[in-house]
Amino acid sequence: MADRPFTSDSFYQFAAEKKLMGSRCQTCGTLYCPPKPICIKCHSDKMEWVELKGKGKIAAFSVIPYGPMPFVKEGYGRGNPHCSGIVELEEGPRIAAQIIGVDVAHPEQIKIGTTVTLDFIERGSWHFVEDVAKVKKTYPVFKVQ
Ligand SMILES: [Zn+2]
Repeated sequence: MADRPFTSDSFYQFAAEKKLMGSRCQTCGTLYCPPKPICIKCHSDKMEWVELKGKGKIAAFSVIPYGPMPFVKEGYGRGNPHCSGIVELEEGPRIAAQIIGVDVAHPEQIKIGTTVTLDFIERGSWHFVEDVAKVKKTYPVFKVQ
């Protein structure tokens, strides 16, 4: 674990192993998720991997009636919007992710501060490839109980 570089590729490799990983600055203790290779507070590059519990609260959200290609291929779009949000993790960092288990037909009922827990979803990569469905990647998502 410790020898993986602090990159988004590593982040998604951990996600494929069902782990939500961040990086913590060993100099000042600041925690980042997704991970950063260099601390933006003290500029130290002494980072370590930390597994996050995957519990948090909705800090912001939007219900979106269109999506990038992997979402469209899953059937999201006009008539079937998805909820995208910012989750404030218990450990502090905020992460952007899809929020599932909410009533997207009634976004006024989705509340800031609602407790969410981590789950993972496999979907086509966002990178442009000829057939996006052939390249799968595991993404963290957060669900409302
Ligand atoms: Zn630092």
